[in-house]
Amino acid sequence: MIDFRSDTVTQPSTIMRQAMANAPVGDDVYGDDPTVNDLEQYAAKRHGFEAALFCSSGTQANLLALMAHCERGDEYLCGQQAHNYKFEGGGAAVLGSIQPQPIENEPDGTLPFAKLSAAIKPIDPHFARTKLLSLENTINGKVLPLEYIQQAREFVDQHGLKLHLDGARIYNAATALNIDICEIVKYFDSFTICLSKGLGAPVGSLLLGDKALIARARRWRKVLGGGMRQAGILAAAGKIALTENTTRLIADHTNAKYLAEQFNNVEGFSVNLAHVQTNILFAKVDESIDQTALVEQLKQQDILISAGNPMRFVTHLNITKEDIDRFITVLKATL
Ligand SMILES: *Cc1c(COP(=O)(O)O)cnc(C)c1O
Repeated sequence: MIDFRSDTVTQPSTIMRQAMANAPVGDDVYGDDPTVNDLEQYAAKRHGFEAALFCSSGTQANLLALMAHCERGDEYLCGQQAHNYKFEGGGAAVLGSIQPQPIENEPDGTLPFAKLSAAIKPIDPHFARTKLLSLENTINGKVLPLEYIQQAREFVDQHGLKLHLDGARIYNAATALNIDICEIVKYFDSFTICLSKGLGAPVGSLLLGDKALIARARRWRKVLGGGMRQAGILAAAGKIALTENTTRLIADHTNAKYLAEQFNNVEGFSVNLAHVQTNILFAKVDESIDQTALVEQLKQQDILISAGNPMRFVTHLNITKEDIDRFITVLKATL
């Protein structure tokens, strides 16, 4: 299968499976799993944070961050397109009694400070208490400019807010900017990393923050049923994701650019190359193309894509340049 639907489809590598099989484990709810402890300590040190928490998913890690920063009746500012507003089942409201205050994202994924500022509520019993600004990087494959993040830090300091980053693909952002990840995450009070996307682990995300925040998040993780026992089997894969799979993301970005260029030779498809910054690209598809039929016909030939306009394609460690060539050949023949 050549699977362009998402980087969540990545298969664990042989060394990952070996590390999982050999991981020393214990009961992590007692704090006894040496492999989980090692991953959390490694991640905290690597990213310049006091503490880290291994979570079952990015959704859980974001929810724990919101619940650890905010209390019932508080609110967080976020993008209208933010994953932790739009794609996480309203978890902060449903489970945390925390109100989202979404702001329309600019085309580059940023949130304008004038609109953010206007959305901050006065201290008055009529209003929810504005506590947090949550950003996302990368957002729909786009990298937030570093200057914007610096300004966001100044903005939250001026307004007495905390700053969270949904960094599901933060390593892709650091790769695209060609800087160390610490140069981005140092501006945030907390951030998440998905280990199970381009980094190739089968399961798991990390939440990073100071010790007090992570202690609160750890408590909420148990409350939400996320206290895992011999989770070291999963954490072992997560450690390999961080130590072995971050430097190869550049290959996914190169492949995404290559795929974008190839699309511009396929009738009915067009990609704005300037928008392809990381491993996600969006192709405009001519209305005359029957997408349902196309998805089905490609599937018969072991190629998986998602319908949509624009159509989203994601490159990852199980997609090579040769796979892209094969896809383009099959696509042209099928059309
Ligand atoms: C995938 C994703 C998440 C959630 O991760 P899951 O592990 O799928 O729950 C959060 N934020 C962003 C930006 C994502 O792409």
